[in-house]
Amino acid sequence: MTIRTRFAPSPTGYLHVGGARTALFSWLFARRHGGKFVLRIEDTDRERSTQESVNAILEGMTWLGLEYDEGPFYQTHRFERYNEVVGRLLDKGLAYRCNCSRERLDGIREQQLARKEKPRYDGHCRDRAVSPDEPHVIRFRNPLSGDVVVDDLVRGRVVVGNAELDDLVIRRSDGSPTYNLTVFVDDHDMAISHVIRGDDHLNNTPRQINMLRALDWDVPHYAHVPMILGDDGARLSKRHGAVSVMQYLQDGYLPEALLNYLVRLGWSHGDQEIFAVDEMIQLFELDGVNRAPSAFNTEKLRWLNQQYIKDSDPARIAHLLSSHLGDLGIDPTEGPALTAVIEAQRERASTLIELAEISAFYYRDFESFDAKAAGKAFKAGADDALLAARTRLAGLGDWAREAIHAAVQATVDELGVGFGKVAMPLRVAITGGAPSPDLDLTLFLVGRDATVRRIDKAIERIRSTQ
Ligand code: GLU
Repeated sequence: MTIRTRFAPSPTGYLHVGGARTALFSWLFARRHGGKFVLRIEDTDRERSTQESVNAILEGMTWLGLEYDEGPFYQTHRFERYNEVVGRLLDKGLAYRCNCSRERLDGIREQQLARKEKPRYDGHCRDRAVSPDEPHVIRFRNPLSGDVVVDDLVRGRVVVGNAELDDLVIRRSDGSPTYNLTVFVDDHDMAISHVIRGDDHLNNTPRQINMLRALDWDVPHYAHVPMILGDDGARLSKRHGAVSVMQYLQDGYLPEALLNYLVRLGWSHGDQEIFAVDEMIQLFELDGVNRAPSAFNTEKLRWLNQQYIKDSDPARIAHLLSSHLGDLGIDPTEGPALTAVIEAQRERASTLIELAEISAFYYRDFESFDAKAAGKAFKAGADDALLAARTRLAGLGDWAREAIHAAVQATVDELGVGFGKVAMPLRVAITGGAPSPDLDLTLFLVGRDATVRRIDKAIERIRSTQ
């Protein structure tokens, strides 16, 4: 069997993390089995669907690297095909016209609710020959008895009695097709072998299966993925923080970290946490998908992002970091090599924004000292230690790590104090208090001019506050 999966977003907003995870699972399953991944835009709700949103979805998928093999197919371009299928269902007596008025439908609904029954269409028009010339909807003639069995690849066997299902509207009175119709026609026409989607669609599946069967079409396999919850146990939504995939780009996340986070959100392979994309493709199976909903955990995402910042090629991080430095008004070509700064700082940041912030001091003088760091480092006598260090550093023939280290050591020896008495004020003088690596490396990268200039500024500050 050729494996074919699809992602079928409704373009009514940005690509959110739940949708991205569904897309990822579908993409991985197709890649894992050498199949095809199809993108279908379910834009039949014309009032809520926008081109902007289509663009946002495409942009999110591109950023995450979820490339599709076919599509995007737009449902609004396929109305002719949907009408053809409705015509076929009508011809075969598998669908019928219904002209029940809103009042009648509301009336039966109220009565059913009063009897504590599930509201459903009562089949009034099933055997009435409603003329095509009067306003009408088309309903699918759902079987009255028997069960529909969904052997869901995540949820296991789900059995729904046909008595629970009513005759669903498949075409509205304005001629537009409804969701369940377009989905079963498209899944058939696009030869989808595995429908992987959110479990909010599970209740539609028996209806879609009944319509596929009515036309003797193959029924795909289904895998309904549990929803994502916020940290409070409620369904993940905006109020839990960023839910838009592209927001994570802005917030300084790497796409591979977000993908890794999303694949682990509801899927596991032993207790492994880090998966390169190739590895996900090799290992992904639907039977590793959890049945229970998973909770979104920003701390874990930050941790993963940190691992990727730490372990990625510094040249790649440099490429991604440049725009965040740009946001701070920094041009990284004017200063030390960005890859060297990244190697020095990357263990100290969980996002690219943090990495940009703690790397700023390599490129420009800071405005003010971190109060806490300055309070600790700039004690009485620190100005003399800084002055002695300044003299040695300014006079160094060779601005190299070893020479810098030797100059600091010589200052320590000259003053007869502990190493920290010189190193601490020196570090804060140069960095302003930002996290930084070994002192000699820090000074080396900052450069001699900035080192001397900042020492002078620190001495000035210490003297003016004493
Ligand atoms: N268009 C639906 C949605 O965005 C998905 C339909 C499906 O996957 O069958 O939720």
